[in-house]
Amino acid sequence: MRDVCRIAAPGFAVVPAKAGTQYSQDHRCVLHARLRGHDTAVRRKQCYDTRSLIRTLAAAVLMVSSSLPTSAQTTRPPTFVDASTLVPNLVIDMRYLGSDNFVGKPIDGYEKPVCYLTREAATALADVARDLAPQGLAVKAFDCYRPVRAVAHFARWARDLRDEARKADYYPQVEKRNLFRDGYIAARSGHSRGSTLDMTLVRRDGGKELDMGTPFDFFSSRSAPSDKTVSAEAQSNRRLLADAMRRRGFMPYSKEWWHFTLRNEPFPNTFFDFPVR
Ligand SMILES: [Zn+2]
Repeated sequence: MRDVCRIAAPGFAVVPAKAGTQYSQDHRCVLHARLRGHDTAVRRKQCYDTRSLIRTLAAAVLMVSSSLPTSAQTTRPPTFVDASTLVPNLVIDMRYLGSDNFVGKPIDGYEKPVCYLTREAATALADVARDLAPQGLAVKAFDCYRPVRAVAHFARWARDLRDEARKADYYPQVEKRNLFRDGYIAARSGHSRGSTLDMTLVRRDGGKELDMGTPFDFFSSRSAPSDKTVSAEAQSNRRLLADAMRRRGFMPYSKEWWHFTLRNEPFPNTFFDFPVR
């Protein structure tokens, strides 16, 4: 902020903060005006005006940049691994590869049933799988790394209000026009950073899914892990899943029992767009 007063009053230097003091920028602007014998109120206004202009510009830049496609990387970095190679007994059910999903069609960017994750996330998930194995349980993945183009496909679908082919199964109580507003569909997904996955638990013997109270990707407040309208057994299973994931460094998501992100993800700001193949 050092240049703000210089902009407001060309040719004058900003009064430096004295050593050991914590002058705010406002205070320093006022001091500056007083020392130079200028009208304090005018100078103060100039400081505020300039700062609010800068704030407005900064907000505008932020809005534009967040609505633009990110500089998505289109080649798979070597740090992404096929999670099946590390996670024992991992069951793969990549729901966006086929039509069994809320769109009702295969989603852009999914070409093979592979669960790609960063090595860090896959390693942590392997620990989860090993922890649960003695209870006769295994991990089942519905979605892992998600290309940016898949997220764009979701957004395109959400804007097409005529297409409600899978409403009865996935969002019976939510108006499609509210899917963005209510946070069920977003312009960006943490999945594109490679350390987030959607999953459940299955019995190793037979592969039956544990009852979690709602299906995967069910757009409803009942999918919140803390929801108390689902059965006691489902609540207990959700706790079992969340506790197992937390223990190995994953964060649960308050709206979806199936969604977890590695706490110390290696690419917190990078969104990838290589196809799943
Ligand atoms: Zn998810």
